[in-house]
Amino acid sequence: MTNTRLIRGGRILDARTHRAEARDMLIIGERIADIAPPGLTVNDETEIINADGMLLIPGLVNAHTHGHGSLAKGMGDRWTLELLLNANPWLNDGQTLEDKHLAAKLNAAEMVLKGATAAYDLFFEFPQVTREGIDAIARGYQSVGLRAVVAPMMADRTFYQAIPGLIDALPTQQADRARSFKLNEYQSSIEVCRDLLTNWPYDRSQVRPALAPTVPLHCSDPFITACGDLAEEFDVGLHMHLAESKIQAVSAMQRYGKTLTAHLADLNFLGPRFTAAHFVWPDADDISRMADAGCSVAHNPGSNLRLGSGIAPIRAMRERGLCVGIGTDGSSCSDNQNMFEAMRIGAFASRVVSPDPETWISTEDVIDMATRGSAAVLGFENDIGQLAPGYLADVVFLDLTNINYVPLNDPTHQLVLNEDSSAVHSVMIGGKMVLRDRKFTTFDYASLIREAQDAVERLRHGAHEMRQFSEAMESAVGRFCIGLARAPYHVHRLYNEQSFI
Ligand SMILES: [Zn+2]
Repeated sequence: MTNTRLIRGGRILDARTHRAEARDMLIIGERIADIAPPGLTVNDETEIINADGMLLIPGLVNAHTHGHGSLAKGMGDRWTLELLLNANPWLNDGQTLEDKHLAAKLNAAEMVLKGATAAYDLFFEFPQVTREGIDAIARGYQSVGLRAVVAPMMADRTFYQAIPGLIDALPTQQADRARSFKLNEYQSSIEVCRDLLTNWPYDRSQVRPALAPTVPLHCSDPFITACGDLAEEFDVGLHMHLAESKIQAVSAMQRYGKTLTAHLADLNFLGPRFTAAHFVWPDADDISRMADAGCSVAHNPGSNLRLGSGIAPIRAMRERGLCVGIGTDGSSCSDNQNMFEAMRIGAFASRVVSPDPETWISTEDVIDMATRGSAAVLGFENDIGQLAPGYLADVVFLDLTNINYVPLNDPTHQLVLNEDSSAVHSVMIGGKMVLRDRKFTTFDYASLIREAQDAVERLRHGAHEMRQFSEAMESAVGRFCIGLARAPYHVHRLYNEQSFI
């Protein structure tokens, strides 16, 4: 089989100039070899892919997702982050290895259908990460063909232990039950991770490992430090939810006497391999700490709105030189894996912060964040996020006859302001067509539908008792957290927050 392909006549988006000229794109193996005006001559061995009437964009890169959430899309409605964390035990209860594999595959399939070609997945297993679990997840991504950074999401404190004072504020029976939940000692998670990093069997350009101590408050200091040391030793990424909600920001003051970011800085945890997810509640010093250390941020505007976490100060971060990528977050808290929606919400969320349009995030900037910015978050900055010679051929074909582009006025604006993923026609990853004319070439989608439906019916039945417990806790947890949200804090990220306090 030939390993040379020519994408003939597609209109390649140049987001900065707002133009999309017809070009021929030559691909040798998995990389782009040449981009030239139409009419490039090639030998008979070359496979020709006709892209007439297509807008070609670099595959979008999802800087933050959770594969384990894909089976829980559309669950819950008016949940804050803390109410979601309270529900997590039943949302993810009883997943077998096959379920974990299926969840990752489902997540990957949705991303491809919606124009993403790579993702940073923080996958959770209870009571701790397992070698077999991470294998199941990595194989899930591999079976679809999506490029992925897979980071076990780990903790050694439960949500109930993480928020100071929460357990003591619960009614006795619930407090006893909350106390009975235990995560394993952090050393055993570190041991599994060391084994994973030493014996990673996958091609790292396709699926690579990273580490994700989930939230500072959920991890003891020795655990955070051990993760940092291990990542350094094996040269892999670190990813953590940081200052996502006001409850976390206020709790950090109680637990550490300083901000979460200041605490991580004091642990020597910040550095170029570190990505902070959300980062809604930093102050100016926190942004400087992160920028000076060369860290990145995964901005999840859809999830931040869905959970009422607030509006992240993206403009200030970018002006201070922080690398910002865009993510969807998991489907249990943003319901879909649609990077077009994430870009659109990201652009719009910036507009409720200030009446000065000069400070709003432009369509060019938001595309840059969802491609080159997210690529840097994944550690693939020299390989993906751009359509240029030398880069991996991760290409999304958008059908210009789709209503989103009729008429075609400005491809940059329309990609952000009009596109909803319905124009995604085909998707190439590493030179290979993973989706052709909206049909997967790598696996049987009809089986995936059946397996997902069967799995959730079985899992929901098995999680019945856990669900009852979580729901019984909901009002007490909610009340306690509202109390914390009323505490004064020195930055504000929610509309009308001051009058709420
Ligand atoms: Zn997350």
